[in-house]
Amino acid sequence: MTNHELFQRALQLMPGGVNSPVRAFRSVGGEPFFTARADGAYLWDVEGTRYIDYVGSWGPMIVGHNHPAVREAVERAVKDGLSFGTPCAAEVTMAEMITRLIPSVEMVRMVNSGTEATMSAIRLARGATGRARIVKFEGCYHGHGDSFLVKAGSGALTFGVPTSPGVPKANADLTLTLPYNDIDAAQTLFAEQGHDIAGLIIEPVAGNMNCIPPVDGYLQALRELCTQHGVLLIFDEVMTGFRVALGGAQAYYGVTPDLTTFGKIIGGGMPVGAYGGRRDLMEQIAPSGPIYQAGTLSGNPVAMAAGLAMLELIQTPGFHDQLAARTRLLADGFQSVADGEGIPFSTNRVGGMFGLFFSAQKKVTSYAQATAADVALFNRFFHGMLKRGVYLAPSAFEAGFMSSAHSDQDIADTLEAARGALRDARA
Ligand code: PMP
Repeated sequence: MTNHELFQRALQLMPGGVNSPVRAFRSVGGEPFFTARADGAYLWDVEGTRYIDYVGSWGPMIVGHNHPAVREAVERAVKDGLSFGTPCAAEVTMAEMITRLIPSVEMVRMVNSGTEATMSAIRLARGATGRARIVKFEGCYHGHGDSFLVKAGSGALTFGVPTSPGVPKANADLTLTLPYNDIDAAQTLFAEQGHDIAGLIIEPVAGNMNCIPPVDGYLQALRELCTQHGVLLIFDEVMTGFRVALGGAQAYYGVTPDLTTFGKIIGGGMPVGAYGGRRDLMEQIAPSGPIYQAGTLSGNPVAMAAGLAMLELIQTPGFHDQLAARTRLLADGFQSVADGEGIPFSTNRVGGMFGLFFSAQKKVTSYAQATAADVALFNRFFHGMLKRGVYLAPSAFEAGFMSSAHSDQDIADTLEAARGALRDARA
């Protein structure tokens, strides 16, 4: 069966032929490939074509695909059964691991996706403060919960429906949005409405409108504003957690949130999410408190085994420095290739996350700048890279992800491909 044949079948059976929108290649054009197998830094499609992968299952494959230690941990866990519906020891080990690595997380609750984590964190913020409004940032994506599909990033941005039909106006009205990296706008909003705001949720490094790090002092200023106004600060570390540093973006920037949400990374590729934070807040979650949240498959033993094995691997001394060094090599390489071709271009990177912008802007720091980049040029570049065996995220508005499995040779091959792809794309 070819990629094309599979996609034709899929289109008859699933909306857009996919189970998650950006996978469909709608914004870059063409048809997606169907992955048959993944190992290390590579994906192989059903036709046997190999791609150097900078998507990494959208973030979690920080040690590369199909790492033997993770696979073996899963195999061991599977022998004992797939789901118990009772507590299991691995959940306790996972909670100990997360609370040790992220000290602001004093207690944690496992869930099954990033979406669930953010929805639950917001419910907790509302329940704990008795306030209804939340604040999010234009171009940030926090999953597909009703409260978050307002000026959202990722697929919502890619497909031009940042605010989705089906989100009731009453619900959307409770979500206030701010421009990312603009502290004056936040101060003005808090001065007017701070007393009504339950929580402010932010991607501490934005990864769903391409990759935009916070400007100096920005997260600190938001921390102060939230404290002043009794608003809970929620870091959505679904992408940044355990990736930009072992302790996540909060360790990297030295800012302590009240609550943190995690996702895919702590499952090592299995469907997992988690939220956690201050003990006095988390104790308000059922059954120790009245704020309800539950999940039949939450804390699944196989998912815990995969996540724990991966979290062990990334604690190897120097792991994150090396990941950051590789990411720098790649980003600087892209820059010099683009400079050599005379194409206006810039990059952003933090730890193992990066962004590529076809833009004359030297440093992209805002949503407006990110969305002003040349999307048509990116799309041609994307296909040029794919043709040369390199898989970037199929949208100009997604971050790229490095793994420890990417070798110097992979990076050199990627840059060689970029030279050809840029020449073709410019024409
Ligand atoms: N928050 C952030 C920052 C994300 O990047 C994502 C997904 N990419 C989510 C939440 C939602 O996670 P999930 O797709 O697992 O529901």
